[in-house]
Amino acid sequence: MKYITKYKSPNYNLRNNSKIQLIIIHYTALKNTLEAISYLCNKKKKVSAHYLISQNGTIYSLVKDKFRAWHAGQAFWQEIIDINSVSIGIELDYNPRGKNNKFSLKMIYSLKKLIFKLQKNYKINKNNILAHSDIAPFRKKDPGKNFPWKSLSSSNLVMSFKKLKNNEIKIMEKWFKNNNMKSKKHKIILALSLIGYDTREVYRNDKLYNKLIRAYRNRYLNDEDINKNKSVYNTLINHLLNFLLTKN
Ligand SMILES: [Zn+2]
Repeated sequence: MKYITKYKSPNYNLRNNSKIQLIIIHYTALKNTLEAISYLCNKKKKVSAHYLISQNGTIYSLVKDKFRAWHAGQAFWQEIIDINSVSIGIELDYNPRGKNNKFSLKMIYSLKKLIFKLQKNYKINKNNILAHSDIAPFRKKDPGKNFPWKSLSSSNLVMSFKKLKNNEIKIMEKWFKNNNMKSKKHKIILALSLIGYDTREVYRNDKLYNKLIRAYRNRYLNDEDINKNKSVYNTLINHLLNFLLTKN
């Protein structure tokens, strides 16, 4: 795999001996690759990512994998709050309001190759390829609802959910019932938290709850699903069972 190593970001430090477990996907929301490079390599900005992928599919390596790049900010996943120490950050040259407002085929092709290589090198679980909006749903939207997650799952890079059998769903519903969980909202929060999302404040804050649901919907339900009346609840229960059954 070829990387451009000409540009280096000074914005990194040591990983604290933590193992690499997650890959976090971002978009830059900047004008173009050149602007993204100068932003991510500017000492004053105090942000960086390990990789940047341009619209034409060129991959820039800005921080070595072994170092801790600064891309996650305040974030949370499966009880981990120092996400930078356990992750690789990948930025895409994409801006929803710019001329670079498409995830080009070349960009996605390079992204897939890069994820494949990182997964192999660091034995990263398919459940651990995440959006910035997964780990910081209250402040971040990237890589946004147009990001082609389906393309990544059909290439077997992220988990694709198999349809559950009726009895499997029944077991889940029975469990909820036996534990006296009646409210759909509480079931949703439990499922989100078992998968890894930050639910610490959402019980008592509706605004945060809605942001979390939006982040989940943007990643797992596209417009077509919503037209077919697929609900967040059903998707989530299916997701949770798939997650529990495939966890290693
Ligand atoms: Zn981001």
